[in-house]
Amino acid sequence: MEFSKITELLAGEPKYRLTQVNQAVFSDLAENWDDVTALPKILRERLKKECPMEIPAEISVSAGEDTVKALLKLSDGKFIETVLMRHEDGRNTVCVSSMVGCPMKCAFCATGEMGLMRKLTADEIITQVLFFARLLKKENERVGSVVFMGMGEPFLNYDNVMNAVRTMNSPEGFGIGARHISISTCGIFDGIKKLAKEDLALNLAISLHSSDDEVRRQLMPVAHGYEITELLAVIDEYIAATNRKVMFEYLLISGVNDTDEMALELAKLLKNKLCVVNLIQYNDTGAFIASSHNRMNRFKEILEVNGIQTTMRYRFGRDIKGACGQLATGRN
Ligand code: SAH
Repeated sequence: MEFSKITELLAGEPKYRLTQVNQAVFSDLAENWDDVTALPKILRERLKKECPMEIPAEISVSAGEDTVKALLKLSDGKFIETVLMRHEDGRNTVCVSSMVGCPMKCAFCATGEMGLMRKLTADEIITQVLFFARLLKKENERVGSVVFMGMGEPFLNYDNVMNAVRTMNSPEGFGIGARHISISTCGIFDGIKKLAKEDLALNLAISLHSSDDEVRRQLMPVAHGYEITELLAVIDEYIAATNRKVMFEYLLISGVNDTDEMALELAKLLKNKLCVVNLIQYNDTGAFIASSHNRMNRFKEILEVNGIQTTMRYRFGRDIKGACGQLATGRN
């Protein structure tokens, strides 16, 4: 939906019209302007014509029904993927894309193989949340949190991402608490520095995936531009400025970054940092082999024994290719 058009369209109207429209779109989650009877018919007709509410999408649901993947069709005919993760405790997380494709070319990531097609507008990012908010409403549920872990590098689309975040967070928008919105980056210094200055207490996640510069460069071309110690220095500044815990994402690839020595190195590197390491099982994209469960548990143990808080990410939506790093539509 093109939310920015609404403001334009309501420019000559009394102020309370915008409140009514926001209420209809973000709280009542109306799917049709005809249902928004608080508005005069003539205005509804204009909105219908100039700002249609339909969100064209195809849905696939995983076998366990804990993951729903939506393939959304954008106005220029391109496709993006958005994933809903339904946690056992009832929380619902929407994983949004920030780009069509991605320029970062991480060796383990399916989206990276596509290259960058274009950045998403703020409206296109918000629409992804709206799509699942509507779906959940039918079951009397709501979107509890949003993670920027779909297609694309959010910090290379900073302004649109932040504008979308403001609508997600705003009481006139979805009213999702800033602490329930997470931005994941492959390590774009500029973005981390800017985020530290925002007045929103968002969560920052860093895709680290190795404590060794050589290995990280093999996995993530972005690492050619700097050393891990430089990245950690920028993160230290972020923590000092915000006093917020940072999440390091570490996906485990057999024989590449999952040895005992590497776990020890990682623990040394992150010692005394306000952080948590999230170990992720590598989702097969054909490039590597995932570490075994035993190996993952051992890696986790070594981190924990050495004082590093560690979590392991649930495996969502593997059968519908809706898991992290598997999002590449093949339809663009
Ligand atoms: N560009 C951002 C956000 C999108 S990727 C970033 O790099 O953080 C979201 C997360 O999924 C990142 O941690 C990314 O490294 C991880 N990921 C990518 N491909 C994966 C795969 N095949 N298996 C598991 N995790 C993957």
